[in-house]
Amino acid sequence: MLTVVVAGAGLSGLAAAISARETGASVVLLEKGKRDDVGGNAAFSGGLFLFRYDGPDDLTSIAEEFEPGMRAGKIDAPAYTSEAYAAELMAMSDGRADPRLVETLAARSLETMRWLKEKGVRFTFNRTVGARVRDGVLRVPPGQILTSTGEGMSRGFEVIKPLLRHADRIGVEIRWSTPLTDVVRENGRVTGVMTGDGTLPADAVVITSGGFQADRELRRRHLGPAWEDVKLRGTRLATGDGIMAALRAGAGDAGTWSSCHSAAVDPTMPSPGRSEASPPFPLHGFWLGVLVNRDGERFVDEGPGPWVKNYSKMGKAIMRQPGRVAYELFDQRTAARVADEFAGSAIPVTAPTLPGLAARIGVPAGQLVRTVDEFNRACTDEERTTGLTPAKSAWATPLDRPPFVAYHAVAGLTFTFGGVRIDPDGRALDSDGVAVPGLYAAGEATGGLFYGDYPGGAALMRAAVFGRAAGKTAATDPATPPSDHLRSPRAG
Ligand SMILES: Cc1cc2nc3c(=O)[nH]c(=O)nc-3n(C[C@H](O)[C@H](O)[C@H](O)COP(=O)(O)OP(=O)(O)OC[C@H]3O[C@@H](n4cnc5c(N)ncnc54)[C@H](O)[C@@H]3O)c2cc1C
Repeated sequence: MLTVVVAGAGLSGLAAAISARETGASVVLLEKGKRDDVGGNAAFSGGLFLFRYDGPDDLTSIAEEFEPGMRAGKIDAPAYTSEAYAAELMAMSDGRADPRLVETLAARSLETMRWLKEKGVRFTFNRTVGARVRDGVLRVPPGQILTSTGEGMSRGFEVIKPLLRHADRIGVEIRWSTPLTDVVRENGRVTGVMTGDGTLPADAVVITSGGFQADRELRRRHLGPAWEDVKLRGTRLATGDGIMAALRAGAGDAGTWSSCHSAAVDPTMPSPGRSEASPPFPLHGFWLGVLVNRDGERFVDEGPGPWVKNYSKMGKAIMRQPGRVAYELFDQRTAARVADEFAGSAIPVTAPTLPGLAARIGVPAGQLVRTVDEFNRACTDEERTTGLTPAKSAWATPLDRPPFVAYHAVAGLTFTFGGVRIDPDGRALDSDGVAVPGLYAAGEATGGLFYGDYPGGAALMRAAVFGRAAGKTAATDPATPPSDHLRSPRAG
């Protein structure tokens, strides 16, 4: 029986370990953290999955549950096709994403959702991401994703728990507090890994140890000095160990190393701890209000489209502002909804007048009043602004119903975009596009899919699709003669 070592017990690692084991391999899953740290970033995530579907039957084949008030006999869900998914990813990367990874993610997404369900993960239609009941019909906008069941930002942990149980049940050996420190390559082939406990021989090694967002030095080097002290939204253990070990073993790098996923967060929020503790909620209400910097000026289109397609760039926009801070402003049209759905436990500042609010948040009152006046005058009946720079393209309604409300926001780093170069089946490739024999990778440890922007739900989907693929390939590849599989065309 082949031995596959998987490094990192997040979603991509659990998917890889289960898939390798179910393909017939003996599997050792190494995790740097303790049992309490299982799940990596997924444990802190909102549990949104973006996948393709042809219509309501595909959705109800996965999601049997509805949030309260959403049980509906009829579902209106226009198709979200593989082509639409791939086009969206391509557009968000300005055409830079590896087309083979994009197409694979889109094409395998639905079957992978069913695979996750088979392993015990439960999904629900979720109001916050767009599904709504109107006239007795549940209406799901195309590509408005399902979430795992559970509450708020701990929904992602509900994905991890059943997978961990399943991995245990089928005999995956999990070694906690056992970080991979290096990949061993002899005579061209990967033959094992180094851990703190010594060398562990393996027929195949799968790197699923996440991005480098938790390493201060790598952040400084690749994202820039402004990111050294940034708040982390997820695991503190994704310090790029696996990426660096794979590169040392001959894998090539891919994707943009100077960009990342970063949302607006409350500066007072504590960093997340162990996986089971619910992490703080991000400030996703920006699209319902106005975002200003500490000088009282707007600096970004708050409503270029649905929030799930835009929140990952708000942190980066805030990072470019003086003092790297911003304020999300609302009035009584939207404040209750923001507090209810988009602000978690963040404490808003409230004042009956705009100058009063400016004084409380430390922004120049004259400028804040001017900014809001200009914004209000620019709002049209179609709820977009006209003649304003930057524009607010949608959900633009005047801020004129006091009391006014502000949330203090800073950037929170979710994950980095650069990593190991892979093919669609999870093989690690060298810089010429040739597979490194015995080496595989998946999830945030890999690059080539996300560049400037990111559609919500595509990261958990990527971890599951490519984790599953890498595990299966790792468990079958070594048996086939190298010439059959090693050469892989260079990605565009
Ligand atoms: C707050 C937050 C909300 C999010 N919400 C969503 C969402 O709703 N939808 C979505 O699609 N995506 C979301 N994401 C992103 C998504 O969670 C991740 O992209 C995905 O879970 C990454 O999984 P991974 O397994 O590749 O990496 P990780 O989750 O980072 O897992 C890596 C694992 O490897 C371990 N490890 C690290 N170094 C080593 C080593 N040397 N040896 C062994 N193990 C090691 C880590 O401890 C960790 O367990 C969110 C992320 C965060 C932080």
